[in-house]
Amino acid sequence: MIQDIAPHRYDNAYRDLKPTASDYALCIVQNKTLLLCGEETQAAIPCFSQILPVFPEAFTRAVYLFSIDEKPYFLVEPSEEDSACADSPENPGLQWKKTQYFRTMEPAYQSFAAITATQLWRWRQSRRFCGRCASAMTESRTERALVCPSCGQIEYPKISPAVIVAITDGDRLLMSRYRDRPYRGYALIAGFVEIGETFEETVRREVMEEVGLKVKHIRYFKSQPWAFTDTEMIGFFAELDGDDTIRLQEDELSEAGWYTREEIPDDDVMISVGSEMKMAFKYRTWDPDAGPDV
Ligand SMILES: [Zn+2]
Repeated sequence: MIQDIAPHRYDNAYRDLKPTASDYALCIVQNKTLLLCGEETQAAIPCFSQILPVFPEAFTRAVYLFSIDEKPYFLVEPSEEDSACADSPENPGLQWKKTQYFRTMEPAYQSFAAITATQLWRWRQSRRFCGRCASAMTESRTERALVCPSCGQIEYPKISPAVIVAITDGDRLLMSRYRDRPYRGYALIAGFVEIGETFEETVRREVMEEVGLKVKHIRYFKSQPWAFTDTEMIGFFAELDGDDTIRLQEDELSEAGWYTREEIPDDDVMISVGSEMKMAFKYRTWDPDAGPDV
């Protein structure tokens, strides 16, 4: 999965750090991230020394994000003029890449760093002003948060929990395709946790809403931070309970069906917990009876 970066080590403890020339600089503008892209070199996250010629103010516009292997990563929010300058021919070594680029960029731990930075960037962009009193928010110096200097409101990074469910019926797995989404492969049933719900209740509700089925024997699999949608995915396996007739929620899904292990296609990219669950079922690499019911 995209967050499985061992032997690299992700350290998200908050620190009030200032950048140095050799630290990584993630410049983000309008959901696009600036990378080092030489003609012969692979795309890579630049260090401050490599972007300072383009963004002379990079040090003063930097916010500490996290470290990987003790090397600090900073978010840089350039001005509009500076970001236009980076696209100009005088800087052929730098290129803006859209977030989806990081689904497959190597090395994978740098992809994980970049998408995690884009999640923090979106959160900061959407919390520039206090939601209670409309004052401009300021940086907390003690934790990863934005603080309102007028009323004291504190905003933490936006992380939305969502469940993803592998519904099984003997040798069959339920898979679906989403309507109006870029990902056209087979997906599992997924949905956001609603207010006042446990994860298990979300599983039952989403399965009923999206495909009209009842499930039992709900077992936790794994979880995953999915920065592309500011989500924390919580993966479960569940068994069909009773009638297997699918009643599709057509505004969400374009199709859904039961597929045997042999019919499940291999995923080309194994970055999501959903892919891992499908393959765990197909290749019987996870014992569904190992975990307790939840
Ligand atoms: Zn306020």
